[in-house]
Amino acid sequence: MNSNSKQPNKFTRFLRNNAALLLLIFCVLAIAAVVLAVTLTRDNPAVVPDGPVAGTPDDNNPDNKPDEPDKPITQKVDVYFQSPVKHTGIGLGYTFGPNDLFTFKSSLNEWSTHKALDLQAEEGAEVAAMYDGTVVDVGKSFLKGNYVVVDHGEGVVATYGSLGDIEVTKGQTVARGQTLGYVGITAESEYREGAHVHLEVTANNITVDPTPYVNGEVFRTVEVTEQ
Ligand SMILES: [Zn+2]
Repeated sequence: MNSNSKQPNKFTRFLRNNAALLLLIFCVLAIAAVVLAVTLTRDNPAVVPDGPVAGTPDDNNPDNKPDEPDKPITQKVDVYFQSPVKHTGIGLGYTFGPNDLFTFKSSLNEWSTHKALDLQAEEGAEVAAMYDGTVVDVGKSFLKGNYVVVDHGEGVVATYGSLGDIEVTKGQTVARGQTLGYVGITAESEYREGAHVHLEVTANNITVDPTPYVNGEVFRTVEVTEQ
């Protein structure tokens, strides 16, 4: 009749005998829980450093001082006019001015003023803009042949005459050194002079000697911004 009382005794004995094992299992679960918790909390903060990474240079230089070299530097630079063509010599010189000199035009068989400078060059050689500007006229005339007129700004207008083919159109913006056309023999009044560029320059509507422009003695002071 001890069977009834033996049942609880068995369970109590089981707990007593396996208490160490149960404690061990509990401890293992507890450690596992702690490790899991630490791992999760460590993963989340790991994201936080990603934020400041982009701003790391700012942390070192809060005033953005290393960015200064990137600031545009504006300085004044003299930009000179250039000869429109690699000329081999001067044909008819500039004979208009205070002395009102006359030059003999063999093609016309007469003496007359020459309000231009004839730059002798190989036929077909490139004729370039002496400076930045806008093409204000393109045409053909007896005295100038095929010509291009460029407004170079500040009242300076140049006519490039005795051209062969022309590469620009009226209204077009051109840069210093840009090809306007090619040396020709199209100025009928000057065909005996051979291939050349008949160059006229006016400053504020007054005809001037083109020589200083061709020689690169005339310049503009411009502001140049460098990155
Ligand atoms: Zn001429």
